[in-house]
Amino acid sequence: MDTDVLIVGAGPTGLMLANQLGRRGVRALVIDRHAGPARETRALGVQARTMEIYSHLGISDRAIELGKRSTGANMWAQGRKMARVPLSEAGLTLSPYPYILILGQDDNERIMGEKLSDWGMSVQWNTELVGFEQEPDHVTVTLAQPDGTKRNITAAWVAGCDGARSSVRELSGIGFPGAPYEHVFFVADTEVTGAMVPDELNVYLWKEGFHLFFPMRGKDHWRLVGIMPPELRRKDDVTFDDVIPSVSQEAGARVSFKSCSWFSTYRIHHRCASRFRDRRCFLLGDAAHIHSPVGAQGMNTGLQDAYNLAWKLDLVVKGRADVALLESYEAERVPVAQRLLDTTDRMFMLIVSDSWFAGLLRTRILTRILALAMGRERIQRFAFRTISQTGIHYRESPLSKTLPGVQEKAPRAGHRFPWLRLVFRPNGPVEDGFQKLDDTRFSLILIGQPAPADPIPALGGLLRVHVVPDDPANEKELARVHIPRPSFYLLRPDGHVALAGTQFDSAVASLYVAEQLQLRVNGA
Ligand SMILES: Cc1cc2nc3c(=O)[nH]c(=O)nc-3n(C[C@H](O)[C@H](O)[C@H](O)COP(=O)(O)OP(=O)(O)OC[C@H]3O[C@@H](n4cnc5c(N)ncnc54)[C@H](O)[C@@H]3O)c2cc1C
Repeated sequence: MDTDVLIVGAGPTGLMLANQLGRRGVRALVIDRHAGPARETRALGVQARTMEIYSHLGISDRAIELGKRSTGANMWAQGRKMARVPLSEAGLTLSPYPYILILGQDDNERIMGEKLSDWGMSVQWNTELVGFEQEPDHVTVTLAQPDGTKRNITAAWVAGCDGARSSVRELSGIGFPGAPYEHVFFVADTEVTGAMVPDELNVYLWKEGFHLFFPMRGKDHWRLVGIMPPELRRKDDVTFDDVIPSVSQEAGARVSFKSCSWFSTYRIHHRCASRFRDRRCFLLGDAAHIHSPVGAQGMNTGLQDAYNLAWKLDLVVKGRADVALLESYEAERVPVAQRLLDTTDRMFMLIVSDSWFAGLLRTRILTRILALAMGRERIQRFAFRTISQTGIHYRESPLSKTLPGVQEKAPRAGHRFPWLRLVFRPNGPVEDGFQKLDDTRFSLILIGQPAPADPIPALGGLLRVHVVPDDPANEKELARVHIPRPSFYLLRPDGHVALAGTQFDSAVASLYVAEQLQLRVNGA
């Protein structure tokens, strides 16, 4: 076998998968048909959940250094600020990263691409997948090489991270149902002054559409994204100067553009692959789902597809788990993509609809409802969880098991385990719970009970045990997230709860690990 995993595409999704496999010591080959990394900024928003993953990968500090924290979103209508979504306040206890990091896709790709060298990996550019044959125990892939010749290689698994026009998807005969939106978007990198709230996202809702200002690094630098105003929809070769009048009209008299370094128009689609897997081939990122950029979720969703699949491939490639574990990739990620598609689609239709009622709803009713709703802490937190992707759960997954006795409000199987600051040894300091977790292993968190010797023998060295001792600081923190004692949580490497219960029982946990996680004892 030439490689365990062939990763097709070195966009953000492929680079994340390559890093996650590389750091686990899985042999993976990354190819891309382009000559080098993409130069366009494209996606801009890095969500809190992605930052948590970056932190484990050791690249969050670099991302923060290069990016700009956007701590809230402001809604404007008819030149007036109507409402603010306070991301930082709402997310303060929910994630170490209570903001959207504004960092271009090109920078994200650069940071992840550089990180590959830590695992002795690099991207093989100018190399295109042009065909493959699936065999029972491997895939024979045909690659077109830089010199124009073709060669065949064998891979145990193929990860199609090859974007919206995915060859892996098309060659697998997997449908990509959906449609293009009728509206054309414009995007511009500008130097501009105006009433926009600095360092925050500013959303301008118009009767006929919307535009957004994303804060960028550098004084007065803003990325402007919007839909083409009605009077320009039939015009060819639209330039930035053409859109200025409508943007200025909606953004108020004080807006003044000094320069525009990049302007582009594009059409977007909303589509979701009918399956994310065909035997030994997987689809991830834009190859599996594409949606409107509303909410800055696209790139982040692809990165989390990769994070979900990597630990499972690792266990299967190393013979620690049965191939059946891989079925959970589709079972967990298809609903996430479909939910996202539904939500962004509904929001998008609301903010682009041309009907007079939608215009009224956007500029008068929606902004007022939002202003009222955002005054309530519970709704602020819900908004943060949704936008940041920290609220994504796999409760319905075949891997999730909540045992009887777990309280209704406590974290349950499938949830991302909450971010807690706890004392981990008697009279010790308060430590960041996420920093204690090793995301290349399972973690067993025991609360109000001691650790048995070798609690889950089948996991062996794949398990780290953390006992949360009795301590007033711990009581308060656990009460905040409704975790009583005794409780235990077995976490998957990706930080989601696999098994949740009250009193830990080795036999029950071992049965779960063998039957639901499909783990093999001693690799047998
Ligand atoms: C103009 C624009 C603005 C956007 N704005 C946002 C935003 O604000 N927020 C957001 O979250 N998302 C945004 N997106 C979406 C975001 O860019 C994508 O979700 C993201 O790029 C998906 O990453 P990916 O790695 O899955 O795919 P891609 O980035 O498309 O990467 C796929 C890679 O596969 C390679 N490839 C393709 N076929 C083959 C083959 N046969 N062999 C070898 N290599 C192959 C390609 O060369 C490419 O490098 C925007 C997209 C566009 C176009």
